[in-house]
Amino acid sequence: MALSQLTSTLAQEEAKLLACIHCGLCLEACPTYTITGDENDGPRGRLYLMRAVGEGRLRSDSAAFERHIDRCLGCRACEQVCPAGVEYGQLLEAARGELFTSGKTRGFSYGVFRLLLKHVWLQPSRLRFVFAVARLFRDAGLPRALLKSGIARVLPRRIQFSLALLESSAAKLAKPAGPLAQAALSEPRLVGVAGGPTLPTGEREANSDSPASRANPTMLFTGCVGEGLFARVNQATTRVLQANGFAVELPHNQVCCGALHAHAGDLVGARTLARMNIDAFRASALGDGAPMQANVITNAGGCGAMLASYGHLLADDEIYAEQAHEFSERVCDVSQQLETVVVRSGAGVAEKVTYDSSCHLLYGQHAGEAPLQMLGAVSELNFARLEGSEKCCGGAGIYNILEPELSREVLNEKLANIRNTGAKILATGNPGCQMQIGAGAMLAGLNLTVCHPVELLDESYRRAGMYENSDG
Ligand code: SF4
Ligand code: SF4
Repeated sequence: MALSQLTSTLAQEEAKLLACIHCGLCLEACPTYTITGDENDGPRGRLYLMRAVGEGRLRSDSAAFERHIDRCLGCRACEQVCPAGVEYGQLLEAARGELFTSGKTRGFSYGVFRLLLKHVWLQPSRLRFVFAVARLFRDAGLPRALLKSGIARVLPRRIQFSLALLESSAAKLAKPAGPLAQAALSEPRLVGVAGGPTLPTGEREANSDSPASRANPTMLFTGCVGEGLFARVNQATTRVLQANGFAVELPHNQVCCGALHAHAGDLVGARTLARMNIDAFRASALGDGAPMQANVITNAGGCGAMLASYGHLLADDEIYAEQAHEFSERVCDVSQQLETVVVRSGAGVAEKVTYDSSCHLLYGQHAGEAPLQMLGAVSELNFARLEGSEKCCGGAGIYNILEPELSREVLNEKLANIRNTGAKILATGNPGCQMQIGAGAMLAGLNLTVCHPVELLDESYRRAGMYENSDG
């Protein structure tokens, strides 16, 4: 392939690349730079490499470009501290697009990943089958049995960790409440995590449990990993939204958000999935016709950030550009949706709880305070702040499988901070982070239950007897 063709994606982003003023203020925020100390493993160095490729001075199939772009977590922590407003996340997507189309053979793991993206993730029925098999394997207790047996010690570390990831996706909190029971209606009261941010009282009262908010329709994005391994989190999300006065629709024919494709550089695949999701939500009872009439609710930071970027992803699509922009404007995390009302409080949870931010929830959806507000609805929460909560856990999609050494170093720092809190429960708003931290804790012998914040609130509602058919 000619060099002029290879550089097309980054060449189109020239203005964004030139925005970098090389100040280096982003370096200390970057987890990979702070570990390796290599300028090319930091945002500034990666931007230099991208610019060199965009200007045709470096081939996109060069070893340096591949190595340092692959080693980026895509956490976007660098964006938050950049005084020049460099849109690093969009540039990284373009750089990975260059790598994906470079035609270079990139090792066994990447080859398998690429095949899965094309032949499984783009085929919803095959994807459902794969997750059904994974669930059977997990629910039969095989990953745990293998990890406990001597067999695990002879398995490659990457396989051991994959087994731990699958095991850590299993439910750890108490049995959930009955099937989508309507919550009993109790008097709402103001909530907030001690020491955590709170909404101004006037604003919260204005947003209180009015008839309008009760009738508020929402549409739940369930996600492929969400439905495949974390259906209980979708059910908890639905129950908690209903308990707080929202109607919840689950649009048919929704598919994977496309984040794995976008992060791998398969922008064609990501756009295909984005169009399918926009069609599915617009065709649903609540989203049909323009403009869309309900928010698109997510409970996975990675999916939410991806859905919120559809407007950018399809900006040049003659048919979908406007619809994609409208769709992205409607995306919000369940915690952000709950911020619009005074959340009902549930019973207490005795164990000490801490919270880790999902990078994409924090930096992609700008939901820093909302999950803490949601946790604050658990009565008398015994909460411990986690040092470095805003830093990546090293999960980053399947970075933990593709770049295991660097991922492990990032994770070890997170686990040390978690250990220091003394917490027995860690809540985090992304399934990838749940699995990464859960797997790391399991292999390190740390007694830790990892869950989604909405699962904890759901459990506290169950213990308070707020659901019909509840055994609490
Ligand atoms: S996205 Fe994260 S890992 Fe990548 S350059 Fe930015 S801060 Fe570093
Ligand atoms: S902080 Fe922004 S402008 Fe400064 S080096 Fe990093 S990306 Fe460039």
